[in-house]
Amino acid sequence: MNRVNRPYRAGLQAVVLDWAGTTVDHGSLAPIRVLQRIFADREIEITEDEARRDMGLLKKDHIRSLLRHPRIAREWERRYHQPPGEDTVENLFADFLPQQMKCLVECSSVISGVSDAVQRLRKRGLKIGSTTGYTRPLLEVLLPHAASQGYVPDCALCPDDVGAGRPLPWMLYENAVRMQIFPLEAMVKVGDTISDIEEGLNAGTWAVAVARTGNMIGLTEEQWCALPSGEAAERLRKAHRHLLDAGAHYVIDTLADLDPVLDGIEVRLRTGERP
Ligand SMILES: [Mg+2]
Repeated sequence: MNRVNRPYRAGLQAVVLDWAGTTVDHGSLAPIRVLQRIFADREIEITEDEARRDMGLLKKDHIRSLLRHPRIAREWERRYHQPPGEDTVENLFADFLPQQMKCLVECSSVISGVSDAVQRLRKRGLKIGSTTGYTRPLLEVLLPHAASQGYVPDCALCPDDVGAGRPLPWMLYENAVRMQIFPLEAMVKVGDTISDIEEGLNAGTWAVAVARTGNMIGLTEEQWCALPSGEAAERLRKAHRHLLDAGAHYVIDTLADLDPVLDGIEVRLRTGERP
């Protein structure tokens, strides 16, 4: 392919960060608590593992996917004498939003090390985009809350802005348009879930996963620090394995560990490698 006359800067130009579990909400707990609560309100218990399996999707898609889970669908039918339908999805989602709004601020502290890490990214000349499975009203609550703690991305998009969420690549494409990034291999997507990785791979960006602060481990910073060191190491090892198996180009513990990965990607780009 002829790339000679393209007016773009060589090397990396932007990093696009996920929200819950990557930059805010250590353990990605806010959505889990609310999902469990809205099902419990209908006398259906869902486990934390079930609630975490499809994390990263647009929340309505996430609810739909939970209702398709055979155990949950069976439980629903046993309790309500009919299978859950699209009206069930709408009904649960209508409850999800206000409850999520309520617990969003209390659960969404910026993860320690993130503000410093973002400053280092800016010093490298990179732009900072973001994508999420949250809706626009939720993101509008999150943005000033994160800003008050020192984290302000250049671009913050949600599925509402582009018609669909992960694993489709539209939010990343729109980040590229708004921040004027070209080509997509100049972009690195960082997130904590399988659907974050798929979003990056589908868009043709580099896909980096964070293991410790996100959905794979699912613990607050206090809970994480209280784990016996052997157990912490084992859980971290499993999370790394799982995220690598899902196709991540790199897996790091936290966003603060991104710098050497970017150095490695710059080398790969210089030698003509693409994600
Ligand atoms: Mg996340």
